[in-house]
Amino acid sequence: MPNPLFDTLFAPLTGQDRPLLHLADGRQISAAAFATQVGRLALALQALGVAPGDRVAVQVAKSPEALALYGATVAVGAVFLPLNTGYTAAELDYFVGNATPRVFVGDPADAPALAPVCAAHGTQLLGLSGQGAGSLMALAAQQGAGFVPVDRAGDDLAAILYTSGTTGRSKGAMLSHDNLLSNAQVLADLWRFTERDVLLHALPIFHTHGLFVASNISLLTGGQMVFLPSFDLEQVIAALPNCTAMMGVPTFYTRLLDDRRLTRDLVVHMRLFISGSAPLLSETHIQFESRTGMRILERYGMTETNMNTSNPYDGERRAGTVGMPLPGVDLRIMADGREVATGEVGVIEVRGPNVFQGYWQMPDKTAEDLRADGWFITGDLATRDADGYVTIVGRAKDLVITGGYNVYPKEVEDLLDTLPGITESAVIGLPHPDFGEAVFAVLVRAKDAEPDLDGIRAAVAERLAKFKHPKGYAVVDALPRNTMGKVQKAGLRQTYARTFA
Ligand code: ATP
Ligand code: MG
Repeated sequence: MPNPLFDTLFAPLTGQDRPLLHLADGRQISAAAFATQVGRLALALQALGVAPGDRVAVQVAKSPEALALYGATVAVGAVFLPLNTGYTAAELDYFVGNATPRVFVGDPADAPALAPVCAAHGTQLLGLSGQGAGSLMALAAQQGAGFVPVDRAGDDLAAILYTSGTTGRSKGAMLSHDNLLSNAQVLADLWRFTERDVLLHALPIFHTHGLFVASNISLLTGGQMVFLPSFDLEQVIAALPNCTAMMGVPTFYTRLLDDRRLTRDLVVHMRLFISGSAPLLSETHIQFESRTGMRILERYGMTETNMNTSNPYDGERRAGTVGMPLPGVDLRIMADGREVATGEVGVIEVRGPNVFQGYWQMPDKTAEDLRADGWFITGDLATRDADGYVTIVGRAKDLVITGGYNVYPKEVEDLLDTLPGITESAVIGLPHPDFGEAVFAVLVRAKDAEPDLDGIRAAVAERLAKFKHPKGYAVVDALPRNTMGKVQKAGLRQTYARTFA
């Protein structure tokens, strides 16, 4: 009886006497032991009354048990719904109310805050700690070995994943078995993953990057993972010599570059470094190559679609670009209802087996973003060059319209980033009485030099049309980022909202 995702990712682990997960404390978990745990957790979920189609919400620290719970949820035909561990009980009320899960699995230490939220929505609360303890595990330990996976069709839901909430309230993206499986297969192929790979996994598993891109590919190809609770520089440096591949957000790479121990020798066993979830500065790409001799492979995706584009494995990995559409993924760049010419900016639309089934309980938002003919409007602005490489220039929502002119923040940021005294920058639009919006730049000061604002104004005046010039500057030590390394521009717009008003 089929259960597409379970059959491909989890069932093959049964009885396999080989390491699957290497943990930070030196423990190893074999594929067989992991498969046993998945089966026991599946029986525990069924004992709790979880039926096919029910949501299982999970807000727990990253652990092998948490990953096994993903497998168990898929196995019983339910819908896995991981939540950012940073959300407070007040924030969780929205997610639990929106998703109405049968079961909520949380950290036992948070039970006093979680219990009223779950009670308000008729959801059972179970515990799972970062050390693999709690009431869910106690129930799993009582189960036998006789688990039989529940039948599912390819278009049945396997997961609801909430978007990061960078541009507004998080939306629940409904992902089917086929959505997840098709993408994992294409990526595993393109990036040449095999059972010989040891993936350095330091990403959270409540987000598409760590949960689907990283874990699904590794499970699908029978590889091993060094499974770290989070990005800890010491642990990552200790693990690199034993790994073959790493997937990371740009901040992983900047933090590694800040450490003198990142050398060619450290990564001699590595065959692939991948970056995504936020833009990788060209500067980081170039520095990484000069330090290690390896070119980071940047790719682009989102919660709603998994991955859409990737730089090539064999061909040129171009800094500042996200490569070409994946095999099977159609991509077009649209403006005013037409595809733009080469080099022009428009909104990326994608279509393919990876594109989600819609936003959970948001039919209007779904209708707005997902066209009836299957094209999904991503909201990301990009250009495509003559060789087919796509470059993301920002988000449609971050576009600044000042005095009737469009300003793409990335163009201004790219210039600012090259000027002395600036590590990086974020350009935003702020309310302005005359211009509607005014361009405003937040500069991160370099370690050893302070930005010279007069010099910066002069450099900007020389290179950019007047309407693109920032009308104000702020200098800070760091940009606000979420765990995925995304700059929180909405927060910046709030902080500086009254600058011109
Ligand atoms: P929300 O949709 O709630 O506003 P979000 O879009 O940040 O949040 P995610 O689905 O986690 O939520 O992120 C997808 C977005 O991340 C993409 O739409 C794109 O803007 C950005 N992104 C992903 N990879 C890259 C990349 N390599 N370069 C630039 N941006 C990227
Ligand atoms: Mg989004």
